[in-house]
Amino acid sequence: MTTIQHAAANLPERSHLTAAQGDPFGNARAQLRDAVTILGYDDGMYELLANPRRELTVAVPLHRDSGEMELLIGHRVQHNVSRGPAKGGLRYSPDVTLDEVRALAMWMTWKCALLDVPYGGAKGGIRIDPRHYSCSELERVTRRYTSEISPLIGPDHDIPAPDVGTDEQTMAWIMDTYSVQKGHTVLGVSTGKPVSLGGSLGRATSTSRGVVHVALAALRSRGIQPEGATAAVQGFGKVGRHAARFLHDAGVRIVTVSDQYGAIRADGGLDIAVLEGHVDATGSVTGFADADPTSNDNLLAADVDLLVPAAVEGVIHVGNAMQVKATVVVEGANGPTTPEADRLLNAAGTLVVPDILANAGGVIVSYFEWVQANQAYWWGADEVETRLAKRMLTAWEHVSTHAEKLQVPLRTAATCLAVERVAQAALLRGLYP
Ligand code: GLU
Repeated sequence: MTTIQHAAANLPERSHLTAAQGDPFGNARAQLRDAVTILGYDDGMYELLANPRRELTVAVPLHRDSGEMELLIGHRVQHNVSRGPAKGGLRYSPDVTLDEVRALAMWMTWKCALLDVPYGGAKGGIRIDPRHYSCSELERVTRRYTSEISPLIGPDHDIPAPDVGTDEQTMAWIMDTYSVQKGHTVLGVSTGKPVSLGGSLGRATSTSRGVVHVALAALRSRGIQPEGATAAVQGFGKVGRHAARFLHDAGVRIVTVSDQYGAIRADGGLDIAVLEGHVDATGSVTGFADADPTSNDNLLAADVDLLVPAAVEGVIHVGNAMQVKATVVVEGANGPTTPEADRLLNAAGTLVVPDILANAGGVIVSYFEWVQANQAYWWGADEVETRLAKRMLTAWEHVSTHAEKLQVPLRTAATCLAVERVAQAALLRGLYP
């Protein structure tokens, strides 16, 4: 069932696309500092929100299939739990660092608050390249990691979900390990599970659906109709792939896409269904017959209406921001734009739809999955999609109106709205003792 190990064996080494770049936690704190200044909170509130509530670093020993023992390092960070249980993905990547996990956990807090889902923010990560491990090795890693972080997780405490390098099978192993330890099945301990095991219809494509709902609204706000618009999508994984297909279905011409192995371009537009067949067969967009090879730098600089960075942090930085020609940038990934690059894009008049709004569809449907699991009552696909679209478009309206009112970029408006909700919850709860 797992899709982690695809036909990657014959592919070249990964490019810079997978390398965590810059200082994501510093960037997240800089965004928080801006919001706290605008909102007029004091330094004490800044410090409270700039520092994670709880962190756990664990050693994860693994018996490789070869019989050798190897030690992996994992983290789980709960940034804030003022509004509810901690919520956030689990990342398997060789670039995982504690600071990266801290940044991602903070962004989850803002995302959940902005979309008004009743969670705080968390993130987990293991420093591992999942492509180099067998399915049973990944199962052992996941189960041991789950056991090590079990003091933190639980349906009312902290609820992991898929992120870079993990998938629905990983979530099934987490749910099973936790449940076996408890002695009964606890479906609400993880989200993004297989539909046949308490997952929600629509969860697998929810982040991408959400990205496309706000991307189309953002294009229209700039007077660009989707039919006839052009787009570049960086990353062809869990987010970028479905986003490319939904954009294509909405009439947008996808002229360039990339993944961790390289980029391709077809000015007449890529046939996304055919490209998906190629990716399923080969494990990469590279080598697609109906396109020319290009580079990730060229993709970011493509003369398109819409750019969707849907890979990793820090890919739009001070060194390439001025090359971005897209009218609208919609952040499918978490933290793809550094604060300096953000300033340059804003100064150039580019509309940047921030990650905490643009990619929130995933955690929205995670929330729906948790609600369904807790109620033991399952919704139909239409109900999930209608509720997702409503939440995304309401948040888009809210953030764009607030940005206009404050005369600030969308990211500042979104962060202010989110930070204010979290700060209000913290203030109303007060301090104990
Ligand atoms: N990893 C996803 C994110 O960054 C989903 C998190 C979740 O569903 O809890 O938003």
